[in-house]
Amino acid sequence: MTVPITEKALAAAAGWPVVHAARKLRDTGKVLRVSYDPPLLKGAVRMGSRTYGAGLRLEPELENLCSCFDSWSEGKVCVHSVAAALVLIQDGPKGPDCGPNELTNPVEPSSQ
Ligand SMILES: [Zn+2]
Repeated sequence: MTVPITEKALAAAAGWPVVHAARKLRDTGKVLRVSYDPPLLKGAVRMGSRTYGAGLRLEPELENLCSCFDSWSEGKVCVHSVAAALVLIQDGPKGPDCGPNELTNPVEPSSQ
């Protein structure tokens, strides 16, 4: 799957400091879930004691859909949504509600 977004585009929209902070969230496993249903990217990002419902609309222009204060008060592209996008760029969708992986049930050895 091709995600029509790059780190550079995220930096242009949010600024490099936000991208750096978002990388830290990604690298420390704070992005709990990411899904991509074009053009909507959605994620859940843990920060402190809260989990934010992050999201970006990627087309026709980048729009932040995160539930955090930065997003709704100032319309900024925030660190949560950028972190979710970075995970998507790097790994593709992850988490319980995405991808064909969820259809794979563990095979338990039969004890009959
Ligand atoms: Zn946010």
